[in-house]
Amino acid sequence: MPESNTMVTRRPNFIIAISGILASAILAIAVWVLAQMHDDALRRAQDSVFNVSLLVERDVSRNLEIYDLSIRAVIEGLKRPGVLELEPSLRQMLLFDGSASAKDMGSILVIDEAGKIKFDSQSVPPRRVYLGDRDYFKVHRDSPNVGLYVSHPFMPRATGADISIGLSRRISRPDGSFGGVVVGTMRLKYFRSLFEGMNLGAGGSMALMLSDGTMLMRRPYDPKTIGINLTGTSNYSRFLEQPSGDFFGTAAIDGVERWYAFRHIDMYPLILDVALSTRDIYVEWRRRAWIIGSLIGALDLTMIALAVLFSQQMRRRLAAEEELRMLARTDGLTGVDNRRSFEESAENEWRRAQRNGGPLSLLLIDVDSFKGFNDLYGHSAGDDALIDVARCITQNVRRPGDTAARYGGEEFAVLLPDTDQAGATCIAEKIRASVHVLGLGHVASSHHVLTVSIGVATAQGDAFATSRALVNAADQALYGAKDAGRNRVLAYRAMAGAAGNTVVVVPGS
Ligand code: GH3
Ligand code: MG
Ligand code: MG
Repeated sequence: MPESNTMVTRRPNFIIAISGILASAILAIAVWVLAQMHDDALRRAQDSVFNVSLLVERDVSRNLEIYDLSIRAVIEGLKRPGVLELEPSLRQMLLFDGSASAKDMGSILVIDEAGKIKFDSQSVPPRRVYLGDRDYFKVHRDSPNVGLYVSHPFMPRATGADISIGLSRRISRPDGSFGGVVVGTMRLKYFRSLFEGMNLGAGGSMALMLSDGTMLMRRPYDPKTIGINLTGTSNYSRFLEQPSGDFFGTAAIDGVERWYAFRHIDMYPLILDVALSTRDIYVEWRRRAWIIGSLIGALDLTMIALAVLFSQQMRRRLAAEEELRMLARTDGLTGVDNRRSFEESAENEWRRAQRNGGPLSLLLIDVDSFKGFNDLYGHSAGDDALIDVARCITQNVRRPGDTAARYGGEEFAVLLPDTDQAGATCIAEKIRASVHVLGLGHVASSHHVLTVSIGVATAQGDAFATSRALVNAADQALYGAKDAGRNRVLAYRAMAGAAGNTVVVVPGS
């Protein structure tokens, strides 16, 4: 019984456990794949911002270089003898040579040491504007070794349109003293259109700033951001740490978290950063994660639900099978084992006793004068009496391994493994006594109440050749008990000296 019980419960749970393990494995694989995809998304973003920053840097530094060459050419031109005496239109051609006509390049101006425009690439005679207060003028005036200077943004006074920066170089007289400045203006629109031509996603940003933190241009474009100083912001501090690099950061301007790639533009005091928003980087991943996650979740849930349903069915079927098995083994009237089951148990116990060399006892119990009881009290009362007798038997047969069975009409059998003849006789006596004590009236009996006779046989060593022989011995002892007057226990080949109604006989005596 306990063995079949574990079988009923263990196998269905096993199915649920297997499906749980499979579901977890599928989930783990999905999580792993999603983590890889997450990494890939970042790697793609890193490549993309790196490439864009490289492209923009190349474009900016190439244009600055060309512009610087124009400025140098003007300085060289000014040094040529006789240039100042030339006719203005010729001088104009010689000095500026069409070099400043590139797109978004403003004017190239030669400014004298007093801050006034001396020559103007856009106008002859030069526009009358004072530029002595510009940062590029002061820087070159105060220091001879600045080289190329990139100015802060300003609104050109000559045209009053298009905020620009100036690229300037100092004019040094032969004695080294300050002789003025050559400045080329460059419209910030150039950077704006350069930035806008790059594919960066909706939340992407780009910025070009001076090394001192002054913003020159930013995408998304906002005129208010031009000229602001970024000193003190965490991103700018990180830009200063290395010539180039990348990191996750949050923009001070709009508070958006982005992946940044930055680089100091070769040879110029400029820093460029290109950034993709974290949201854009993972938006596609997030969409796929939702789809894959829900599919895997649904798959796992379905699998587990099916496993639960299946195991429930299986549990029901096993329970039904077990019930059938039990019914097939049980006597319908008394609830003890039936004859078929008894034969099986007897055979098993017999073999076990043979293996272990332990004793195996058998009781055969027969109700006395039961035919008369039926005749007197009716068949139904007879059935009730049999139920009572069965209860008396089971109440006295309690050890695990002991088996009580209905052997025939009003005959019962009890198998007592590992019980010697003395023990078996003792149990038989208890059964006999408890039936007697029931006091079921039986006027036709010499004992006046319903009684049983019990034959006991014990197999120990090689006392019997087969289990059948053991049954026959018990049967023989039972007949002996009947002959001796009923309501008694008789043991086959037993020791002398038992008490009560137990009668001891030696076969053949
Ligand atoms: P003895 O003391 O020698 O055993 O006498 P007995 O009358 O018990 O012997 P016998 O074997 O001749 O009678 C058995 C009777 O048991 C026959 C039958 O009427 C009765 N019997 C057998 N099975 C059932 C049953 O399931 N229900 C009822 N009520 N009676 C049964
Ligand atoms: Mg009988
Ligand atoms: Mg009988």
